[in-house]
Amino acid sequence: MSFSWGLSLRRLLRRLLLNGRDIRYVKNDPVRCRVKCKGLGGECLWMAFASKVEKSGYVTLKTLKSKHTCGRNYGGRLASSNWIAKKITNNLSRGEDMKLGTVIQTIQDKYMANISVWKAYWARRKAREVVHEKAVQQYGRIRDYCVEVLRANPGLTLKQKLDRPCPTIQPRFVRMYMCLDDVKKGFLAVCRPIIGLDGCHLKGDYGQQLLVAVGRDPNDNYFSLAVATLEAETKDSWAWFLELLLQDIGDFTNKKWVFMSDQQKARY
Ligand SMILES: [Zn+2]
Repeated sequence: MSFSWGLSLRRLLRRLLLNGRDIRYVKNDPVRCRVKCKGLGGECLWMAFASKVEKSGYVTLKTLKSKHTCGRNYGGRLASSNWIAKKITNNLSRGEDMKLGTVIQTIQDKYMANISVWKAYWARRKAREVVHEKAVQQYGRIRDYCVEVLRANPGLTLKQKLDRPCPTIQPRFVRMYMCLDDVKKGFLAVCRPIIGLDGCHLKGDYGQQLLVAVGRDPNDNYFSLAVATLEAETKDSWAWFLELLLQDIGDFTNKKWVFMSDQQKARY
């Protein structure tokens, strides 16, 4: 069983981190803990000793030699992924696109701690979970999302495909298709009858894919027509997407469409 740190000792260790120091545990058992500075340039005199108060849950800091005789160390070992996550949560909630390099640079600039790419990765992942909730909770709210989108966009085409092998099992999300009514009308009114199709992988724990259909408007710009998220880019999923798209814009009996795709065995 490891030592249960008191709040004051935790703050002390964080302050050490901010000042470019690192520690090593000389003793760490259920009732006492002694730490020394792991500074550069030989043995440092800094040390702290804390122990548990008898018959209580409190921990007291009993000895603190706060004078360092070492050089600085910016290893950042004391910066845990949970601690880093708390520091970058505000940046993510402001909508900043934090790449791993940005996370590492932010912690380096603000707290003088060098952290590894893996630590930055886990910290960003934990911070994203705080901001956006866990992916599984987001999937659980798709139905609410659909109801709200339909309410705000009359005429929208929104199709879902759920998988429910038997009534005792909760339905599982498989696919979703979306085409806005105004986009549909705009495409039919002014765009050329050329549709580009492509798909990409979604970054996340559930590995879905995103399919998109785009047109070209009279200014020669891309015109997003319809999107779908689905389990994988297969012949069946492409057929499902294109059938819904043709229901929206009119099939070959009424119009002639030109499709551009990287799929060699496309059905259409
Ligand atoms: Zn030191």
